[in-house]
Amino acid sequence: MRRPPSPKAETLFWALLTALGYFLLANLSLYATKGADNIAAVWPPSGYFLAMLLLMPRRARLAAFGGMMVASSAANILGGALALQSAAFTAANMAEGALALWLIDRARGPLSFMEPRSVALFSVAAIAASIVSAVVATLLGGGGFDFFRSWLTTVALGMLIIAPPIVMLARLAASGLLRHTNRATIIEAVVVLTLAAAVTLLCFSQSAYPVTFLPCLAVVAASYRLGPFGAAAGVLIVTVITAATTGQGIGPIAAMDEPPETIVLFLQFYLLVLLGTALSLASLLVGRQRLAKRLEQSNRWLLQAEAAALVGHWRVDLVRWTIQWSDQAYRVHGLEPGTPVDVEYSVEQYLPDDRAEVRAILEEAVRTGNAFEYQGRIVRADGAIRHVRSHGSIEMNRNGKATGIFGTVQDVTETVENARILEAARSAAERVANTDMLTGLPNRRHTLAFLERALDDARDKGAPLAVAIFDIDHFKRINDTHGHGVGDAVIRRVAQRAKASLREEDMVGRFGGEEFVCVFQRSSAQAAELAAERLRKAIEGGGRSGEDIPPATVSVGLAAYAGDTSVEALLQRADEALYRAKREGRNRLRMAA
Ligand code: GH3
Ligand code: MG
Ligand code: MG
Repeated sequence: MRRPPSPKAETLFWALLTALGYFLLANLSLYATKGADNIAAVWPPSGYFLAMLLLMPRRARLAAFGGMMVASSAANILGGALALQSAAFTAANMAEGALALWLIDRARGPLSFMEPRSVALFSVAAIAASIVSAVVATLLGGGGFDFFRSWLTTVALGMLIIAPPIVMLARLAASGLLRHTNRATIIEAVVVLTLAAAVTLLCFSQSAYPVTFLPCLAVVAASYRLGPFGAAAGVLIVTVITAATTGQGIGPIAAMDEPPETIVLFLQFYLLVLLGTALSLASLLVGRQRLAKRLEQSNRWLLQAEAAALVGHWRVDLVRWTIQWSDQAYRVHGLEPGTPVDVEYSVEQYLPDDRAEVRAILEEAVRTGNAFEYQGRIVRADGAIRHVRSHGSIEMNRNGKATGIFGTVQDVTETVENARILEAARSAAERVANTDMLTGLPNRRHTLAFLERALDDARDKGAPLAVAIFDIDHFKRINDTHGHGVGDAVIRRVAQRAKASLREEDMVGRFGGEEFVCVFQRSSAQAAELAAERLRKAIEGGGRSGEDIPPATVSVGLAAYAGDTSVEALLQRADEALYRAKREGRNRLRMAA
């Protein structure tokens, strides 16, 4: 096992690494720009310093500033600067590192370079730090505006270009991800970046052709294949090569017929545009990858939820006239997921009786753009008939034209069957509750409810209405002579004959004992009188045909609706008429006043 280094050793390590790297890079940059009138295009030590500060633990930072101070002073003096000037430049570079670090520390979490927000924050910090650095260097070092601008751009480019690839690569190495990255990816990265280097070298080692755009293509390719790391590494490679060659007066930019300052400025813009392009492309790709991953994840969840809820989904592409089914939709149809299906086939799964309706609902939905819902019976692949329910909506393009139909499908056979059983039970119970068991006629409760509605109708619509009460004559005698059983049979037969003598729309119910009520809806008093008289005669005449059943007659009291305020009032009038019929000899009809 490796022992973790002591904090002191760690601090020393970072201070030394910072100092050494800074010194080497500063000398290299100063040396590389020697040929171009001492004007640097990029100041890599700034980026290196910032990267080190971002990577090291907080406690090592102070020592690293010390190391950087020594390295910077040494490099500047070695490069020919005066002691005072060297101190000014070093102070400027220290200030810029401190400010950039402070700004980046404002954000929560480590800088990732994988998110547009994080890249934007880093860029703002680097540019702000460069401005401060340029102000300090110009004021302390005694330079003019040109010096200020040149310092600003070289430091900004140094930070923007050098820091990201170092930080990303170091984090990758520290996370152990590099070891787990598969060989093909590493080989691809090496090949792509080597190609970028080769292309840039080729373009910048000649001056005959102004092919400055070719390295851009190489960097775009690196960003596309390798993401943010490819973008950062690609830009770094192009920067090193173009700065070195241009610094030596070689390559298409150096060959421009312009003063050295313009050439450096051009190179800086060239690199800045390259950096912007590569970073935007890379962050766009990262966003897309993340979206694709999230989409895949939610699709997996959807399929799981569908399987659990037994709801499938389908989508009709109205442009290409194709249909897609989810796995669960296949299961609903009893088919193996993935079996090829088309729109016509999916409609033909419905029983012929339901097909036309399904088609009509879909066509209507496409025409109106409204959501829809339908239920029908399909024949499953195994021959079973199943009830399925679909809900759907229309997908429109920007011009309001329907381009697709999205729907869900669910097997609701059990629900439908349960509902049918429930409905049968309910209607049987209702029948029992409303029917008189002896005669099969509506009972008192049902008759009263019917009459209540009929009265409402008559009141609201002014339709005529009449009600009759009839009662078997001398029924006590029948009971006494023939017994209760025969009495019941007489009641039953009276009920049958009464019912048979009436029109379909008139109703007769057993009101209790041997008493019945007839409701004549939409009948004038005269029409009701004729019907009631027909009823009386039908009962009177029925006696002879029955063998064991003694004849019976009924007395009838009839009341036509005349603004009665209640069912009771109407029945009361009919009852009074009935009483009169009994009193005046029975087996007759009397009208209420
Ligand atoms: P009226 O001509 O004045 O109507 O004389 P009635 O003998 O018919 O007198 P009433 O209407 O008061 O008689 C009712 C009798 O009907 C009393 C009761 O014993 C008998 N009854 C009531 N319900 C039933 C039944 O369900 N079955 C039988 N068999 N008899 C019943
Ligand atoms: Mg009676
Ligand atoms: Mg009676």
